[in-house]
Parts: sequence; C-alpha cells; structure tokens
Amino acid sequence: MNTEIAVLTEDNIDKKVIKRAGDILRAGGLVAFPTETVYGLGGDALNPESSKKIYAAKGRPSDNPLIVHITNMEALEKIVTEIPEGARILSQRFWPGPLTMIFKKNDIVPRETTGGLDTVAVRMPSNKIAAAMIDAAGGYVAAPSANLSGRPSPTVAKYVIEDMNGRIDMIIDGGDSDVGLESTIVDFTAGEPMILRPGYITKEMLEEALSTAVSVDKAIIDSNSKVAPKAPGMKYRHYAPKGELTIVEGSSEAVTEAVNGYVSEASLAGFRTGVIATEETKSLYRADSVKSVGHAGREDEVAHHLFRILREFDDEGIEKIFSESFADSGLGAAVMNRLLKAAGHKVIKL
Ligand code: AMP
Ligand code: MG
Repeated sequence: MNTEIAVLTEDNIDKKVIKRAGDILRAGGLVAFPTETVYGLGGDALNPESSKKIYAAKGRPSDNPLIVHITNMEALEKIVTEIPEGARILSQRFWPGPLTMIFKKNDIVPRETTGGLDTVAVRMPSNKIAAAMIDAAGGYVAAPSANLSGRPSPTVAKYVIEDMNGRIDMIIDGGDSDVGLESTIVDFTAGEPMILRPGYITKEMLEEALSTAVSVDKAIIDSNSKVAPKAPGMKYRHYAPKGELTIVEGSSEAVTEAVNGYVSEASLAGFRTGVIATEETKSLYRADSVKSVGHAGREDEVAHHLFRILREFDDEGIEKIFSESFADSGLGAAVMNRLLKAAGHKVIKL
C-alpha cells in the first residue's frame, strides 16, 4: 500500500489535507495523526471493518480495546447509555485534553472497536489537527497509539513512518507530541472512579476536581500482582526498546557509581551500552550513548522525552540500557509506570 504523508502545524491547518484524511476515514481507511499525548492510528470507530484493519496494521491482539476520539459532548451522548455525574465534572475540567473515560456503550459502537467489551473508552483530544480530522471523518475516530504492538509509542512522526509506512493510507506529521505519554484512563462503570492507566492528568488532579478519593487499579501499582489489570491493554508487554532496559534505584551518587560499573561489565562482554540520565547527571556517565530525559524533578520533561529516547537507543543499536529511577508521585506515577513496563519490571535496588 502507498502511504500518503502530509506535514501540518496546529496554527496552519491545511483544509485540503484534513478533507483528504476525512475522506479516507469515511471510506474505511486508516490515517495516523498527531495528538497531545502520542501519535494515534485512526479509523472510523463506528465501522467494524476499520477497527479490524487497525488491529491488523499494529499487530495488536484483538481483545485489547481501542479509544474512541470525539470533539464534543453531543457525540459522547450518542454512543453511551449514561454519563455519570463524576464523568461530567471531569469532562468540563479536563476535556479537551489527555484524559480517557470508560462508559457503558450502546449498540452504535461495534464490539470490534471495544475488543468485545460492552464498555467504551472515550477521549476528546486538544490537538487542533486531531480535532479537525475527527470532525472531517464524521465525529468518531478509534485510535490506539500509532506504533507496532509492543514498541514504544511514537511521539514524533519519524517513528510513525518507521512502523506504519506501507501499512496504512495516510500519515499526518504534526511535529512533537506535547505530553509524550498516553492519556490517563479513568473507569466510571463500576461506581467509584478508578484509574486504570496513570497519565498526565494525575490522581491528585482528579481527586481535587471530584472532591473525592480516586482509587488506582491494584494491578498497575503492584508489579508482582497476579490480578489481571482492568484495562485489558495493560497486561501486554509494552513500550519496550529492543535493548535490555534495567532501572537502577538508590541515592544519586550510588546510582552513578553502580551504573558506570554495570556499563563497563556490559562493554567488556561486547555489548553496546546506553544510559538514561538527567541534565544534572549526564556528564557523570561513561557509555556508548548517554541521553538526558530532562531536568531532575521535572517529570513533565521526562514524560515528553522518554519514548523518543527509547526509540533512539534502538536506532543506535544499543543492547544494554540502564536508567535512573524517578519520583513516582504526581506525573511521576505515569512516567514510572511506562519505564517499569519498558524494563519488564527489571529494577536493581541499591
Ligand atoms: P492505546 O490505544 O495503545 O493507548 O491503549 C488503549 C488502552 O485503553 C488499553 O490499555 C486498553 O485496554 C484501554 N481500554 C480501552 N477501552 C477500554 C475499556 N472499555 N475498558 C477498559 N480499558 C479500556
Ligand atoms: Mg499503545
């Protein structure tokens, strides 16, 4: 398949490109597009054939449901059986933005889109290119992240092209993703709100908006949990670079010293080595490739850079990667969730 590639910026949206993307989606085709979280791989959410094509293009297991992207509340009302009060409050506070909520679906949403579930995940993205494209497509775009299943989510178009060129109809390059991590997922279908996936909208922000406690799915807090996660996608290996990633936890000095030791051992054994560091610590490491994810304590910077850096290690053929650990409160909870998954939960505690 020939994949059309178009470059747009949010403040200069070419209507012809949006119309073309909308036409492709209405005809059952697939378009990758920028959002504020990561790049999405879009298809018409109400067309079961489009959803099947999304799973095929990604190599994604078909029991891992898709998120339906909309641009207004009327669109939400048409596809769910009810909108709980808490969900209304969160929609007013955080939509459009990096928050996904789970609702009971009605018959308009095909089970191919929801991985066989009778609930549906819905998000209203703030990226203007995404919003214009969703409207042009008829209002409902199902979109997982635009990577091959298991790989780090793309936050720049280069990596969408690497994974999807020749597999889908069109790729819209809209520059860097602002947030860099997937949306926070909140479930309202079991009564009390529960976070199924941490993201840019933190537990603290949700609790403040709702004036009530918000729980977090146990399966994502406890790495040894035998409980199946409530978001089916969270059970799969995810976000992983090709190299073997290990997180090293401890005081800053101890981590630097230990990581340099692990790096020398790995180099002697013939491996190409990489380190994930911060602006403050990057000069302290000796490895084939040392990358800064941003300033220490700035989890927003870490979120923004993390997935791109994991991909760059792959480009450079790095085989053993060691990462510093980050605080896991606030946005750090989402950062550490992705980093731990990328590392297959391999952590050395000093
Ligand atoms: P991705 O599209 O790669 O960002 O992944 C979407 C995430 O949303 C996956 O972890 C899914 O399991 C989760 N998800 C989508 N729909 C539902 C749903 N109806 N119930 C629970 N989790 C869902
Ligand atoms: Mg994904």
